[in-house]
Amino acid sequence: MAWLFVLSAAGAVLLCAISLGLMLSFPTPSCLAPGPGFLAPLRGDRRSRNLLLVVAHPNDESMFFAPTILFLKSKGHNIHIRCISQGNADGLGTTQTEELYHACDSLKTPHEQVKVLDHPKLQDGFHEKWDHGLPAELTIEHVQLWSIDTIVTLNSYGISGHPNHQDVHHGIWLSIIWFHTL
Ligand SMILES: [Zn+2]
Repeated sequence: MAWLFVLSAAGAVLLCAISLGLMLSFPTPSCLAPGPGFLAPLRGDRRSRNLLLVVAHPNDESMFFAPTILFLKSKGHNIHIRCISQGNADGLGTTQTEELYHACDSLKTPHEQVKVLDHPKLQDGFHEKWDHGLPAELTIEHVQLWSIDTIVTLNSYGISGHPNHQDVHHGIWLSIIWFHTL
């Protein structure tokens, strides 16, 4: 039976190698490239990046990205925040939005660089399924409007597993694909 164990182990190693290869070939990290300028070497006197953080709900920026935002700010990078919904699942969208703007004061991000959306098809809710094309379309708009060279967003699991978070990830991924075909 030893040969069976060896065969299984070899199969597992092969699967790991294939998975790693696929991950490296088609990465879906939480920090994605909006175009050829993504993480390109900084030239001349340009030392900072123009980042767009995309989250699903108010408070996502503080719960999941506060250290990232503060670190990037400390390095002189410019950050824009786009929140795809007002977080109105419990009818507290206005309060949640106000909280996001207050948080942005602590996160050293100017209010004019923060945008909270309230799209009827992108409402907060565990059972709300978001069409990935919508956040993709809206993100491309902002990438072009603000000359964004780097996007930071939720990972494919949505960090906490919330479906809206996952939809944002897939929407951003779609926007990258579209961006490269424009
Ligand atoms: Zn959230």
